[in-house]
Amino acid sequence: MIDLHTHSSASDGSLSPAELVRQAHAQGIRLLALTDHDTLSGIAAAQSAAQDCGLRLIPGVEISVSWQNKVVHVLGLNVSPDTPALQQGLAFLAEQREQRAQKMAQDLEKRGLEGVYAAVKALAQGQAPGRVHFARYLVQQGKVRDLRKAFKHYLVRGKPGYVAIQWATLSEAVEWICQAGGLAVIAHPARYKVSRTQLKRLLAEFKTLGGHGLEVVSGSHSRDDNFQMARLAAHFGLLSSAGSDYHGPAHPWQKLGQLPTLPAECRAVWEAF
Ligand code: AMP
Ligand code: MN
Ligand code: MN
Ligand code: MN
Repeated sequence: MIDLHTHSSASDGSLSPAELVRQAHAQGIRLLALTDHDTLSGIAAAQSAAQDCGLRLIPGVEISVSWQNKVVHVLGLNVSPDTPALQQGLAFLAEQREQRAQKMAQDLEKRGLEGVYAAVKALAQGQAPGRVHFARYLVQQGKVRDLRKAFKHYLVRGKPGYVAIQWATLSEAVEWICQAGGLAVIAHPARYKVSRTQLKRLLAEFKTLGGHGLEVVSGSHSRDDNFQMARLAAHFGLLSSAGSDYHGPAHPWQKLGQLPTLPAECRAVWEAF
């Protein structure tokens, strides 16, 4: 069993890296990638837990990219965590994320909340806060019933607490991943709110830049999405990946490792590890 897209408390997941690895192992997963948003800070703890339980841990990262006024996520799989180019790139994104968090907090404070930044920073356990940490805070404050409502009424374009941010370029993300000896994979491609023409343009550009793969099977895709993405992967000569995008038991709509197998025509990205 394979799962190449998961999050820990090093970004916006709710389990610690070691807990995530133990839970994955208990579910029968034997090849797991930890792919926290814009950080490698959970990898060392995950590696050591993986050694203890006999699971192969692939060091990974999910890089936030701004492309044509949209946010696109690029997974770096099997990266060397001690690569300066990757580390410097991610440090820049962490700084952007910090600045965004301060602006988001100010925006929410204008609407009557207090001490938002400190509370969110505590929820993020000192890491650069993401929107999920704000969502958890809004639930705790009784502003919304659950995380999904937090994203419906806050934190998205046009709603309180939304602050746009310039992430990495597509070219930078691929470059950092390649320098770290990893494979660059477009995450959950069917989830972007773009036309099919635009998605094809993204994949063509990604392929030209040296991108390797497409996350054909994703916890956030429908069965039909999986089959359509398999066709696109074949069309663009991209390898296929599979990942749940698990964020922990507090996000019950994504389950760890319970993924359908890759459609038959796919070439699996993990053959290249
Ligand atoms: P950020 O990178 O801080 O902008 O946050 C992006 C993260 O927010 C995603 O990786 C998801 O974990 C989470 N997210 C985005 N939209 C939603 C939503 N509608 N419901 C729940 N979580 C969401
Ligand atoms: Mn997330
Ligand atoms: Mn993502
Ligand atoms: Mn993810």
